[in-house]
Amino acid sequence: MKLLEQKIMAEGKVYPCDVLKVDRFLNHQIDVDFLCEIGKEFYNLYRDCGVNKILTIEASGIGVACLTAQFFHCPVLFAKKAKTSNLSDKVYEAMAHSYTHNTDHVIRVSSEYLSKEDRVLIVDDFLANGSALSALIELCKKAGATVVGCGIVIEKAYQDGGNLIRGKGIRVESLARIASMSPEDGIKFC
Ligand code: 5GP
Repeated sequence: MKLLEQKIMAEGKVYPCDVLKVDRFLNHQIDVDFLCEIGKEFYNLYRDCGVNKILTIEASGIGVACLTAQFFHCPVLFAKKAKTSNLSDKVYEAMAHSYTHNTDHVIRVSSEYLSKEDRVLIVDDFLANGSALSALIELCKKAGATVVGCGIVIEKAYQDGGNLIRGKGIRVESLARIASMSPEDGIKFC
């Protein structure tokens, strides 16, 4: 998506340790009009797949998931990282490794909101090594739900996640694919 590449070039900052900061429009401040365009793009890619639920992980995935769901007219379910007292006892759980915090944690959704009737589009902001997507896919598997595919805003294609998830036979559509990036040489797209 050309517009997204231009936005990343104009507003993104490359940090050491393979982290791209896009806090101006995606991860801190949210450019709602722009994320609506992202949502429209995911809708155009998956409109014929019978999507009836969008699944993401808190917190950064929620904004883009909601702005995508308005086109599918379906609910958004986000996996929680903390076991809060208001989460029902019957939950599906999976283990994920946080790329940005470098910690392992359990993510969970209530079994009330994910079932074998669901045809799920998984949406997230970034794809790096694929741990977040793998955990979300596992939640769907435990619920018997069908994963129709994944919609990623920014894939760092030089990392392993894309191959890992596509290797499981799951469709992954990324709107911007970064071939390489570094603080010295900047960002190059695929
Ligand atoms: P993965 O699980 O694929 O290794 O990493 C994906 C998750 O880590 C995303 O949910 C995202 O929040 C975070 N992440 C991975 N790489 C980056 C990055 O370069 N910048 C930011 N802001 N988040 C990232």
